Amino acid sequence: MAARLNRSAADIVRFLLQQGEMVTATQSLSDDMIELFAAELGAEVRITEPGAEQEEELLRALEVDLADDGARIRPPVVTVMGHVDHGKTLLLDRIRSSNVVEGEAGGITQHIGAYQTTRSDHRITFIDTPGHEAFTAMRARGAQATDVVVLVVAADDGVMPQTAEAIDHAQAADVPIIVAINKMDRPGADADRVRAQLAERGLVPESYGGEVITVPMSAMTGEGIDELLDQILLVAELEELAAPASGRAVGIVLEAHLDRGRGPVATVLVQRGTLRIGEPMVAGAAWGRVRAMTDDRGAPLSEAGPSMPVEVLGLGEVARSGDLFVVAPDEKTAGKVAETREHWQRQASLAGTAGGSGGGARLEDIFKQVQAGETATLNLVLKADVHGSLEAVTDSLRKLEREDVKLSFVSRGVGGINENDVQLAAASEATIIGFNVRPDRNARQTAETEDVEVRLYEIIYDLISDVQNAMVGLLEPEFEEIVVGEAQVRQVFRISGVGPVAGCVVEHGNVRSGAKVRFLRDGTIIWKGSISSLRHFQDDVAEVSAGMECGIGLSDFSDLKEGDVIETYTEREIARVA
Ligand code: GDP
Repeated sequence: MAARLNRSAADIVRFLLQQGEMVTATQSLSDDMIELFAAELGAEVRITEPGAEQEEELLRALEVDLADDGARIRPPVVTVMGHVDHGKTLLLDRIRSSNVVEGEAGGITQHIGAYQTTRSDHRITFIDTPGHEAFTAMRARGAQATDVVVLVVAADDGVMPQTAEAIDHAQAADVPIIVAINKMDRPGADADRVRAQLAERGLVPESYGGEVITVPMSAMTGEGIDELLDQILLVAELEELAAPASGRAVGIVLEAHLDRGRGPVATVLVQRGTLRIGEPMVAGAAWGRVRAMTDDRGAPLSEAGPSMPVEVLGLGEVARSGDLFVVAPDEKTAGKVAETREHWQRQASLAGTAGGSGGGARLEDIFKQVQAGETATLNLVLKADVHGSLEAVTDSLRKLEREDVKLSFVSRGVGGINENDVQLAAASEATIIGFNVRPDRNARQTAETEDVEVRLYEIIYDLISDVQNAMVGLLEPEFEEIVVGEAQVRQVFRISGVGPVAGCVVEHGNVRSGAKVRFLRDGTIIWKGSISSLRHFQDDVAEVSAGMECGIGLSDFSDLKEGDVIETYTEREIARVA
């Protein structure tokens, strides 16, 4: 920093010491210290995530073309979620094995993290890691692989805590949900009870007049699975999923590991374009030439198109799941991009910031967001000790909502704040509010690394008033106008080099140079602007009071007429209260 500002490290140390901050020349500076010193010199600093700006440049270097030219229908990508033991794994296994033609590759399937199945000549891609943790962890890193969520609910058990979590995660990602009501073969199975529970959660089934498709089934007997696949295809058709099949491939790393014999292995999902053997690819900070590709049955492939999951060999390092992969224009670019990313990832981990992740929104930052022109929605993850207080807090918070500021509950639940809540908040840019609950250790750590704000309350009044204050800040300030003077136009002069000047008489109050004005003609406002020059006889003046004559020059308006009224006013900000 010293070199950049043409100062010595000692200068900085000395300055900070004077400000009461003890640092040595080899120590890292906090953002505040950097800003403090820059302000002292009058220098402008912009603090960014390590590598964030470089990343944009890299994407340009890779010439990632995201135009949807020549997009073609592609298979849907499905993630299966639901409560533990409700049958996610069995369902995924059943769908996979039902599709393996006997004798084909010995009927042996291998788990590469995703697979494709075929139903009525249409292909469907299933992500083979059931549960919402991977889904949300990926989304927190900015990657969205899933088009449709299949929510598995056991008919004899009903909606359980993880079912509710899965609903929150899918809805936060704005992904359509199909409910598989599983274990219909079980004695206590009751599909209607499950539908009623879903409706309570805001997932209103078709039989209740809603839009959520529910499919009763059994992963054990196989009953209903074909129907489920048909419904997935139907939803996919409605979503009009398409991607160009030509051009360099772009996609997501689903899984990656180091194989003793084969080196770094990555399962990638191609999202657009076609991936071919021999092409130079970059996945996050890893790169290499595609040496070999295999599908989920271990069959070798020479190319893979949109929605196709493939296992890729050839990367020089183990990629990270959730990383974007891109085929580079050439090997040199691929190498350079990977190297630059690696450098910045190292910097980021040195600086102790989580690289790439978005982090949650902070209550106190909301106002800044609005000023930057972003939407005024406050996303909240709300946790409370008991149902009663959860409802009470929700109701009070909802009452704070207004036309111009929305509250969005990404998730509401009873119980302590866990890591899952934090992941969800990070992925949805939400603030976590806890009422009479505390975060556990993992949640605390994740909140720290993901930069998610967790606010804890024991008094409902404090909670409400904090959110209310944030919302007042969140609103654009409202202004009240106070009329300070009124002048009537008697004559309009055109002075060369100056433009039109209105010869006026001040009727009330006073007129000040620079004041905001509006023109009234017959009581209607015809223009708003400001006074650019003010003269009393030959002299420039700052203010002219009632009874005096003056010449008023206006910023950019020339359509003045005799008899018009120029009203000057000031604005006063009114603090908004609910
Ligand atoms: P997961 O935790 O959601 O992945 O659940 P699993 O797929 O591991 O299933 C949990 C248990 O429920 C296993 O013992 C399965 O055999 C059983 N199971 C799954 N689906 C069905 C079903 O449709 N009917 C019956 N009777 N049992 C099932």
